[in-house]
Amino acid sequence: MAPDLVPFNLPYSTGKELAYVAEAHRLRHLSGDGAFTRRCHRWIEQHTGCAKALLTHSCSSALDMAALLLDISDGDEIIMPSFTFVSTANAFVLRGGVPVFVDIREDTLNLDEKLIEAAITPRTRAIVPVHYAGVSCEMDTIMAIAKRHHLAVVEDAAQGVTASYKGRALGAIGDLGSFSFHETKNVISGEGGALLVNDPALAQRAEIIREKGTDRARFFRGEVDKYTWQDIGSSFLPSDINAAFLWAQLEEAERIKRERIVLWQRYHDRLEALERRERLRRPVVPDGCDHNGHLYYVLLRNGTDRAMVLRKLKERAINAVFHYVPLHSSPAGRRFARTQGELPLTVSLSEQLIRLPMWIGLSEDQQQRVCDALGAILEA
Ligand SMILES: *Cc1c(COP(=O)(O)O)cnc(C)c1O
Repeated sequence: MAPDLVPFNLPYSTGKELAYVAEAHRLRHLSGDGAFTRRCHRWIEQHTGCAKALLTHSCSSALDMAALLLDISDGDEIIMPSFTFVSTANAFVLRGGVPVFVDIREDTLNLDEKLIEAAITPRTRAIVPVHYAGVSCEMDTIMAIAKRHHLAVVEDAAQGVTASYKGRALGAIGDLGSFSFHETKNVISGEGGALLVNDPALAQRAEIIREKGTDRARFFRGEVDKYTWQDIGSSFLPSDINAAFLWAQLEEAERIKRERIVLWQRYHDRLEALERRERLRRPVVPDGCDHNGHLYYVLLRNGTDRAMVLRKLKERAINAVFHYVPLHSSPAGRRFARTQGELPLTVSLSEQLIRLPMWIGLSEDQQQRVCDALGAILEA
């Protein structure tokens, strides 16, 4: 009999989502910034220490807001990794900005902070560290570089909800940060995200940009007697139906993290022998980085045929995937961005990486099957 499929991802449910959605419906406030949105904002502010949290439709749209808030315009340069999701770059390209891709660190696959300064020019406006797998970039160094060169820092913390760096929540360290609540992330609402505003000077304008360029948020708080068009903006706020769903997950966010860490650690323990025999390399989490078990990846040895490994896993009913195709090698990346030097680690590591199935409910037996299959394939 063929073994049951081990899916790559299954969206987690706390069981309370639909009750909260029904509650939002009963309250007759379905558009944005209702009671559930306010609860989510408070949760993010309390758990991260950011000055202001604002729910958005996605992490992509939170990054779009960040580019608007920083007044990114034609020719402004933004330093970021090429090993990331397209939205990190798109947000700035939409404003006329030019992503400048810098290579990543071999251990964490995060932006290599030692290469940032060489990429700075008079046009540089911002640095966008991406906390890959919920493992923090070297933020002390990055913040010091930004200060020295008067640059903004926008953390792409799409994968970093509940993770921290030296005790500080990811997303709440730079001037701005962004979270994703996409169904493939740890804490989900289908599609969803948040902008974390850490520089209080940007908070009021962030509210205006999010509400179609109006001061409606201040009007609802009774701070002005009518609301008017103040600035450019768009509709970046999700409905309270989405926020109700999200609230069920945020309430359980710390437990979700703990359960994912158990899964992460189980892979880590059971793949140690394969690493010792140099069949693969496991993730590295530097001291001071408290991660959230967002994803588990392995790096195959140079020369191992990744497509073959993925195919053989699939033959054993295991769905594993890879990412990212480096942005600098993509058609839009070549058109809109610039590359700082060669990106040897981005190129080689992105070709060796496999993400293993990771979702709450994945059983110990299923994880063992994944580890056994990897061993059998890599030691054949
Ligand atoms: C998922 C992800 C995004 C995009 O998040 P959405 O909420 O789907 O827009 C951006 N950056 C990184 C690093 C991500 O992993």
